[in-house]
Amino acid sequence: MAELRIGIVGCAGRMGRMLVKTIAETDGAVVAGGTERAGSEHVGADLGTLAGLPALNVAAGDDADLLFAGVDAVLDFTTPKASLAHAKLAARHHKVHIVGTTGMGADDVAALRRAAADTAIVFAPNMSLGVNLLLALAEQAARALGDDWDIEIVEMHHRMKVDAPSGTALGLGRAAAKGRGVDLDEVAVRSRDGVTGARKPGTIGFATLRGGDVVGEHHMLFASAGERIELNHIATDRAIFARGAVRAALWAKGKPAGLYSMKDVLGL
Ligand code: NAD
Repeated sequence: MAELRIGIVGCAGRMGRMLVKTIAETDGAVVAGGTERAGSEHVGADLGTLAGLPALNVAAGDDADLLFAGVDAVLDFTTPKASLAHAKLAARHHKVHIVGTTGMGADDVAALRRAAADTAIVFAPNMSLGVNLLLALAEQAARALGDDWDIEIVEMHHRMKVDAPSGTALGLGRAAAKGRGVDLDEVAVRSRDGVTGARKPGTIGFATLRGGDVVGEHHMLFASAGERIELNHIATDRAIFARGAVRAALWAKGKPAGLYSMKDVLGL
C-alpha cells in the first residue's frame, strides 16, 4: 500500500517537531511537507533539521493552501484561529485534517464541524490513549456516583501554556457532566478567589497549576463524606500525543467526511 503523505502545519513548534520525528519513525507514513506562520524565522528550514534528525530535504513553507494540495493528511497543533483556516483548506482539498490545537470554544468546534461536512477531520484536545481511556472512566464514574459526590479537576502544565483550564481538563469536565446528564457550562466553576461561599452541590470545579516543563498532569477527584476516589493521568513524554495524531491520520484515510474524536480512532 502507498505510504500516507503527511504535512505538518506549525512544523517548528514543540509539537510540530515531535510530529516530524514520529512520522519519520512510522512505517506507512512519510513527511511530505510543513508550514510555519508567515514571517517565522523557520520558513525555509529543513523539517528533519528542525526535529533534530538528519535532513529530510523537505523545507518549511508558509503557504498552507499549497501544502494541503500536495499531501494526503495534515497534522495541526497550532492556534485556534490557524486551525479553523486550515480546516477550510482541508474541506476544499478533501484532505484528512488532524487537529490537536486546544483553546477552541464552542463556536470554533461548530466551524470545524461545518468543514467536516466535506472531509474527515479528527479533533481531540488530547491525543493520548491513556487520557482518552480516562475520559471514558470519568463519564462512567460520574454516572455511577450521585450529586453528593463533589467533582474537582486539577491540571498542571509547563510555564509556556497559554490557555487554561487545559482542553483535556475541560474534556474531563464535559465527560463527567455527560455522565450526570447536565451541561458543563451550567455547572463549571473554572476558578475560585476570595469569599466564594460554600461549595454549590452538583458543580464541577477546576484548578490550574503552571510551571516548569511539565508535559501534562490531570487529576480527577470524586469526593464524598468519608471517602474519595482519584483518577490520575501523568504524561511524561510529548511523543504520546504525536503517536496518537499519526495513528489518527492513518485511521482517517479513506473514512467518510465527518468530525471524529480519538474515541473513534481508538475504538473506545
Ligand atoms: P508551540 O507554540 O510550540 O507551536 C505552535 C506552532 O504553530 C508555532 O511554531 C507557531 O509559529 C505555529 N503557527 C501558528 N500559526 C500558524 C499558522 N497560521 N500556520 C503555520 N504555523 C503556525 O505550541 P505547542 O506546545 O506545540 O502546542 C500547540 C497546540 O497544541 C496548543 O494548542 C497546545 O495546547 C496543543 N497541544 C495539544 C495536544 C493534544 O494531544 N491534542 C498535545 C500537546 C499540545
